Amino acid sequence: MPALSERTLGFTDSVIRRMTRISMEYDAVNLSQGFPDFDPPRAILDRLAEVSNEDFHQYSITWGAQNFREALAEKQARFMGRPIDPNGEIVVTCGSTEAMMAAMMSVVNPGDKVIVFSPFYENYGADAILSGAQPIYVPLHPPAFDFSVDELEAAFRQHPKALILCNPSNPSGKVFTRAELQVIADLAQRYDAFVITDEVYEHIVYAPHEHVYFATLPGMWERTLSCSSLSKTYSITGWRLGYIIAPPQIIDVAKKVHDFLTVGAAAPLQEAAVTGLRFDDAYYAQLAATYTAKRDLFLRGLDDLAIAHTDPQGAYYVLLDISEFGFESDLEFCEVLARDVGVGAVPGSSFFREPVNHLIRLHFAKRDDTLYDALNRLEHLRKRIKPRKV
Ligand code: GLN
Repeated sequence: MPALSERTLGFTDSVIRRMTRISMEYDAVNLSQGFPDFDPPRAILDRLAEVSNEDFHQYSITWGAQNFREALAEKQARFMGRPIDPNGEIVVTCGSTEAMMAAMMSVVNPGDKVIVFSPFYENYGADAILSGAQPIYVPLHPPAFDFSVDELEAAFRQHPKALILCNPSNPSGKVFTRAELQVIADLAQRYDAFVITDEVYEHIVYAPHEHVYFATLPGMWERTLSCSSLSKTYSITGWRLGYIIAPPQIIDVAKKVHDFLTVGAAAPLQEAAVTGLRFDDAYYAQLAATYTAKRDLFLRGLDDLAIAHTDPQGAYYVLLDISEFGFESDLEFCEVLARDVGVGAVPGSSFFREPVNHLIRLHFAKRDDTLYDALNRLEHLRKRIKPRKV
């Protein structure tokens, strides 16, 4: 038999998705892969039921159904504070996962360098390998997860083609300030690099923090590929609806990449999701309020159990410190946690470039009773998991 492709040798399957399978195996409360266990908004589901009897069963336009792009352009223009052309400045993709991959393939050549902040969402490593790019990792230093301007500039001096910016950030929960974004913007300008954003948590931000769209910084529209999705905003992660927003000369290229990768996102789901895109501002305020309450509930529970953790400014993840258990392998810790305590988590090492093994990631995009169930199980943590030699 001939050998399989070399490009697939450089990475394993997704640890995040693997932890979901392990959680199911042990019937654990799955706080690993980030997705809600509550229903999407009723109006979207009602529209989905209607759509099944309407004429949306064949391909939509490859770069997105007209109706969907118009509703999306209007909504994003409102939040970004700039006009967006639904015909020339949007490609609709199968989730932001495809958006990020298509964005990478649109801007990088094999051998090009790409800056990635660490810790990072694990897909970016695989995206880089699949598109032939070499990641340059720049650390976000805990506990505030801030970056050193010198370290970032040193990375830019290697002449990367692009920087990947996850904001609000998974897994750190960092929301980049306008001043921090301006530092990145100045460097992107000076060293002539693109910026590819992942802004899927744009509406899940905790006051007083505010989301600033990178593309809205002076001079940045021209060099930014803004990627996001409807998954988290409307609790429809299984619908796989994402998009890239960028100037027409970039979108023309991204349309081609997307067309040959997947042809298009599911037409009936695009049509049903238009209902969500047309929600007014009250919906987004309510979403932020709901997640603020969940964050407070969950973090208070962790505090009561005296488990040290990060304080997310946005997104719905929290990193827990497991140093006291003295495990060499955080993956093994997560397996024991799922089996003996009944809570599914993601090992922190799958997000860090640096050798970090003392953190695990949990998410709190769950119904309150699910969160209480997880906290009740975590009460037994120190009884059920005995420290290894520390
Ligand atoms: N973003 C989610 C997480 O970090 C998962 C997304 C996915 O698995 N596609 O858990």
